[in-house]
Amino acid sequence: MVCLDPFNPNSKEVRVRIGPSPTGVPHVGTGYVSLFNYAFCRQFGGKFILRIEDTDQKRSTIESEQAILNSIKWLGLKWDEGPDIGGPYGPYRQSERLDIYQKHVDKLLQTGNAYFCTCSTERLTEIRQRQIALKQPTSYDGTCREYKRNSGVVRLKVPKYEKIEFFDLLRGNINIESSEIDDQVLLKSDGFPTYHLANVVDDYLMRITHVIRGEEWISSTPKHILLYRFFGWDIPVFVHLPLLRNFDKSKVSKRKNPVSLEYFKEAGFLPEVMLNFLGLMAFSFEDGREIFSLDDFISNFKIERISLGGPVFDLRKLLWLNGKYLREKYSNSDMLNYIQKQVFSTEYLTRIIPLIKDRIEKSEDFFEYADFFFKNSISFNLSGCHLINFNDKDKLIKTCEFLIDELDSLKSFEGSSIENLIRLFCDKHKIEKRELFMFIRLAVTGKRATPPLFETLSVLGRNRCVMRLRAFLGEIKNDTKNFFNH
Ligand code: GLU
Repeated sequence: MVCLDPFNPNSKEVRVRIGPSPTGVPHVGTGYVSLFNYAFCRQFGGKFILRIEDTDQKRSTIESEQAILNSIKWLGLKWDEGPDIGGPYGPYRQSERLDIYQKHVDKLLQTGNAYFCTCSTERLTEIRQRQIALKQPTSYDGTCREYKRNSGVVRLKVPKYEKIEFFDLLRGNINIESSEIDDQVLLKSDGFPTYHLANVVDDYLMRITHVIRGEEWISSTPKHILLYRFFGWDIPVFVHLPLLRNFDKSKVSKRKNPVSLEYFKEAGFLPEVMLNFLGLMAFSFEDGREIFSLDDFISNFKIERISLGGPVFDLRKLLWLNGKYLREKYSNSDMLNYIQKQVFSTEYLTRIIPLIKDRIEKSEDFFEYADFFFKNSISFNLSGCHLINFNDKDKLIKTCEFLIDELDSLKSFEGSSIENLIRLFCDKHKIEKRELFMFIRLAVTGKRATPPLFETLSVLGRNRCVMRLRAFLGEIKNDTKNFFNH
């Protein structure tokens, strides 16, 4: 097996890829990994491939895929091959490649490197619970390895007592005892592959030379190495980027930070600022420059200079950077365009007008009624809100957290879907509908009377609603306004 010379990418056409899973909002982490892949391959005149990893059929949606593509496009990173534009190694959506995975699994079964497993979910849960009780790592106990089954899920047959080693360009050799590797499911009962199988097969068939991805995948890499070995394929160069962190060093998460690229776009962050900021996360210019364009980044980027210290996704720094760009790079007329596009876009106004048309008599009244569509933070007076008068802070916090999670993962943010969700939510949590409606209205608009609530929420959009509810949650947690001591 040959490993490409990692320090000599010119030995072959450089081909890199990102493999986002369309199971949620377009994450800043996807933007970050995309940027580093993009900069690396552009430096060598290589190709940047976008592959949709939608093997989790229950959680994947076409809306999420579209949002991911739009966000990467917004950042200005153009892919050379992808699900929308095709390319020589397509299709680029894993759900359209099932026959390819099946063929490869058959090969592994034939060579004895994989086996069928018929263990029931109950049995697997039992094994798991036993291992958790004994504080052991959870993994399949290998029962079906001994039997010649001919149906069921297909598992990787991890060899016993071996050291599995691989090279990471930033971290050097990494090795792990094979006893620590689970007999990973490769093909599920619905005929879909798992991430591991699909990812390796596709990286090989799409001629990927460098796998540049987040460090959360390091622990999966030994499984991938085994797959490369069993198929007899060359191993690509691995580069595991440090994860973006919250201030407390935990992995950047939506509980502590906005993480959707759509949020940053809607909030008016400039895409070039976003790229500049994401570039700073794991790289520093030799001359210490902190402000740079994408072209500067590409020409100064050196993959081996990526620093592994957990980069903190510091919103204040991002804000500072955005302000600096606006001040230094924007003329008054650029600023006018920016405000028109970001704040008063025709698209947004067109959705707001029907909601407030019947409530105003002259144009001057517009802001009286529609101010909350444009404000960044909402101030609210909760004295008339019954949910608050329960005086049960914990209940309110829990309710608010559940609501945020549900709104955040609602597939479509149309008025009718929001209404369904909120009505069901009230039934499930035994909350008076009237009370919850008022609570949401106050937290999100700051007003007691608004246009129809669900349409209003839909026009405001998921990101604004969720951000405002989060801000509200922060206030009740700290009780900065003495809601609970009246
Ligand atoms: N589908 C994986 C993700 O969502 C891709 C990981 C990889 O790049 O190997 O991040």
